[in-house]
Amino acid sequence: MLSWLTGRDASDQALNQALASLDMRVWPALLDQHRFLRGLDTREAETLRQHTAWILANKSFHGAHDLRVTPGMRRSIAVQAALPILGLDTSLYRGWTQIVVYPGGFLVPRTETDETGVVHEYVQETAGESWEGGPVILSWEDARASADAQANVVIHEFAHKLDQRDGGADGMPGLRAHRDLDPRRWTEVLNRTFDDFNAWLDEIEPLIPPDVDPESDEATGWYAELPLDPYAAQDQAEFFAVSSESFFIEPRAMAAAWPEWYQLLVQYYRQDPLSRLDDAGVPRPVRP
Ligand SMILES: [Zn+2]
Repeated sequence: MLSWLTGRDASDQALNQALASLDMRVWPALLDQHRFLRGLDTREAETLRQHTAWILANKSFHGAHDLRVTPGMRRSIAVQAALPILGLDTSLYRGWTQIVVYPGGFLVPRTETDETGVVHEYVQETAGESWEGGPVILSWEDARASADAQANVVIHEFAHKLDQRDGGADGMPGLRAHRDLDPRRWTEVLNRTFDDFNAWLDEIEPLIPPDVDPESDEATGWYAELPLDPYAAQDQAEFFAVSSESFFIEPRAMAAAWPEWYQLLVQYYRQDPLSRLDDAGVPRPVRP
């Protein structure tokens, strides 16, 4: 019977097959393909390989709009998704099965109620979605670009998956396995940092000339001094997801601006990505 129907993990055989597919012909190149994985040490890299194999064996990949999801695409998505749980347990990704991959950005219907109570319905193009108890949906164009970019849609959506455990998407992931982390402290530091970010954003926004669309590429320069992408100001759940992207990809600005928030993420993820970078922010080559 299919593993997700029985609530059990994939069989040992399926897991071994997935591990065998990440052999020495494939694995070093896969790490090298993703810039932010180059700083892992040998032990971390082996754990990442195990977790990547677990994702490959336990998740089913589906192409939307006739996209054929190749083994290489599956491996790239799985290895990126495995990084946030490198120091955690694969069981945190249990409870759902599908990873749906679109060729590019896809359209999602949205509903929003404004301050006057008027409900606005519109369609938005997005690079990723994570449904509570349901699939992760990704644009391949963006997931592939994530390998080298500052933003990372795969880490973003899988951070939402961690956040959705134990009490919904609120910017606080399940902390049951973290006795060293007090949920009240998490909420306090998260809210304080989130408010600080919003205040920072409020200072920048009036500086953008009225003829520049704040959502356009033209406005990027004004936001450059921010430690995070402005999208993080949406709500606490997005703040955690965007923070997680920066944490794993380019943590220096965030760690400098909010050392306490950065340390909480270090404690939660049980990894310190800053230690993998040299002074110029370049991942150090794999250490023996
Ligand atoms: Zn999000």
